[in-house]
Amino acid sequence: MATRTGAVNLGQGFPDTDGPAGMLQAAKDAIDAGANQYPPGPGVPELRQAVAEHRTRYGTHYDPDTEVLITVGATEAIAATLLALVEPGDEVLLVEPYYDSYAACVAMAGATRRAVGLVEDPETGRLGLDVAALRAAIGPRTRALLLNSPHNPTGTVLTRAELAEVARLCVEHDLVAITDEVYEHLVFDAHEHVPLATLPGMAERTVTISSAGKTFNCTGWKIGWVCGPAELVAAVRAAKQFLTFVGGAPFQPAVAHALRHELEWVEGLRTSLQDKRSRLAEGLTEAGFAVRPCEGTYFITADVRPLGFTDGARLCRELPERIGVAAVPVQVFTDHPDRWRHLVRFAFCKRDEVLDEALRRLARLS
Ligand code: PMP
Ligand code: GLN
Repeated sequence: MATRTGAVNLGQGFPDTDGPAGMLQAAKDAIDAGANQYPPGPGVPELRQAVAEHRTRYGTHYDPDTEVLITVGATEAIAATLLALVEPGDEVLLVEPYYDSYAACVAMAGATRRAVGLVEDPETGRLGLDVAALRAAIGPRTRALLLNSPHNPTGTVLTRAELAEVARLCVEHDLVAITDEVYEHLVFDAHEHVPLATLPGMAERTVTISSAGKTFNCTGWKIGWVCGPAELVAAVRAAKQFLTFVGGAPFQPAVAHALRHELEWVEGLRTSLQDKRSRLAEGLTEAGFAVRPCEGTYFITADVRPLGFTDGARLCRELPERIGVAAVPVQVFTDHPDRWRHLVRFAFCKRDEVLDEALRRLARLS
């Protein structure tokens, strides 16, 4: 719709500026040096090594040969992990709203999803984890929990206390945890990204997934990775073998370079996104939306009811034609659209002038 109408697109989350120059150059150099054929099945050794080194920032240690696997983005990592570790008839716990590929991949694995909603704190509006509901959703066929933090679409960053409760549930019920940490570096203010694998009893049962797309502004490169215990990673690798086999030969050394040398650049990106978050939050509030707290990612969710609307999907369908802005209704990321009808998601990984133009247009709504 954004393309058809020429609307300012704050719908799909992708940045409108490039990643670090050194990383872009490293990809060009890799092409010139002939990295244009199939890379090794588990990924090029220098990238596996760089991923393992990067995870030591959290205090976790992975053997780059057996406990790290390079994938075609986090998307393939999620698909391969579910296909590898979940059997037909198993149940997978998801936290709702959830990234759209989760439901599809659970279905492709022949499993059933149980989606448990985040709950709104009545005082702050923060969408936090409902641990009691998670516990209640666990049954005899529950095999895995798929958890995303920093969370798309809400911008929630799960706290250490929330994660500790998740860890307890996983250990108690012998669940495999699959964590989607693609926004691990995009965390604002005093919030902290805590990988679930760092909690007691979790390293041996957690498959940690991340990717380069969000961290280094290269969503089109599709370089992701899986870290976990060797036997789980071996199973994921077996599934990956027949999904894509390998991918992104010249981009793999470039991402290795970025993980090693561009984290200062990432800190600049993080502070810039934090400012953009505040810019969009203030503008949306002025335009009449009730904005929910955004602690990380590059998405903000806003309640449309103060503007007199009741259905976010309907509003998002009207917005491009009516005022020239595109956004995504949160209900599309859920199994319970009625509960989420009032929220819409705006991406703020855009140049300031793009955000300002969107806000000028949104101001016409009230
Ligand atoms: N998980 C979440 C929560 C995401 O927002 C995205 C980005 N679309 C992905 C996974 C996919 O990441 P990638 O582009 O590395 O496949
Ligand atoms: N992660 C991005 C989003 O949630 C884009 C990925 C996609 O469009 N599939 O908007």
